[in-house]
Amino acid sequence: MTPTKKNANSTDAVHAGTESRRAHNTLAPSIAQTATFTFENTADLVQYMRGEDSDPEREEYGRYSNPTVRELEKRLAALEHADDAVAFSSGMAAITTAAFALLKAGEHVVLFNDCYRRTRQFVRKTLSDFGVTHTTVPAGDIDALAAAIRPETRLVITESPTNPYLFCVDLERVVAVTKAHRRVKVMIDSTFATPVNYNPLRFGVDLVVHSATKYLGGHNDVLGGLIAGPSHLTSLLHETRGVLGAVLDPHAAFLIGRGLKTLNLRVRQQNDTAQRLATYLENHPKVERVFYPQLESHPSHEVCRSQMRGGGGVVSFIVKGGVDAASRVVDGCKIAKIAASLGGVETLIEQPRYMSFFELDDAQLAEVGIDPALIRLSVGIEDADDVIGDILSALEFA
Ligand SMILES: *Cc1c(COP(=O)(O)O)cnc(C)c1O
Repeated sequence: MTPTKKNANSTDAVHAGTESRRAHNTLAPSIAQTATFTFENTADLVQYMRGEDSDPEREEYGRYSNPTVRELEKRLAALEHADDAVAFSSGMAAITTAAFALLKAGEHVVLFNDCYRRTRQFVRKTLSDFGVTHTTVPAGDIDALAAAIRPETRLVITESPTNPYLFCVDLERVVAVTKAHRRVKVMIDSTFATPVNYNPLRFGVDLVVHSATKYLGGHNDVLGGLIAGPSHLTSLLHETRGVLGAVLDPHAAFLIGRGLKTLNLRVRQQNDTAQRLATYLENHPKVERVFYPQLESHPSHEVCRSQMRGGGGVVSFIVKGGVDAASRVVDGCKIAKIAASLGGVETLIEQPRYMSFFELDDAQLAEVGIDPALIRLSVGIEDADDVIGDILSALEFA
């Protein structure tokens, strides 16, 4: 059995991390809406401080831990087949805290040029300001990655599938190239894949990051981030989070934990709808090009087919007729709403030219490889026929 093909576990998505018996026998978790935790008396406090408390999970203060957050962390760890996980207030809080935990001045990072825009900005600007240097390598170019690693390299940041072209990195090759360097850690942003489609740790990657704002929460109503990995790294992240303070609120943890219970159902349907839609679009006379990794025409098709269990819920496509034709399609949609973000139950549509890349002119867009007529669609869990019908009707306005 290849490790990649083991199914994501729906039972763990519902039950993992749950205490055997909850207070008041509630079925649903209670939200530990508290900033701090009490001690019976001085002897009780001293016993806790010595690390001798009978309850190893006893909490002290909300910046260090919270039982509602802890349950979510354990559940995500189970889904990623990891020792443990750490939750943060957003996906970016997760990425930045991990970088501060793993890097110091004089060290070096390698990242792929199709990583999330704010991740690149953080590495280029913020980490540079703190004396950490970097090399950016072209998407999927493993030879360039190998050439970029230096004695002071400590971290490789990758992502898969990427935004908005859905490139999937060949993790077997990334790990083969980086494992020769004992001190280099690999962190992958797996937000677009979710544990349903991909378990990157099984390839030997060190840390897997999710913006829980997207598929894990799944309802476009909460921000959060999670990182899963081996306990020697998650304990370091936990400690750094306690200093930097980017903690997940207990109520947000409750919402993300509730979202996780239906992750498998949602993502499997989103995979199916996106795949069907991508096939329709590929044969549509008003569509120039479609990007979906399960299509044979996609440059990452082989990697996606052999290393992942599904292509995900995002489809990108270029409309014939340029930027205004694309805007007419976006404006012609009735179900798909114009909004940033992705991965939720509602279908969302956007033109990267007017959303993430608004400040760039045409020459700069060409430089970063964004076609002005590109549309990014994140399919929700509405009926597939309705979502597909909505886009096909809107294409009449192109
Ligand atoms: C949205 C996103 C992030 C950032 O997550 P936030 O929760 O918005 O901070 C990071 N990586 C990817 C791939 C994303 O889509």
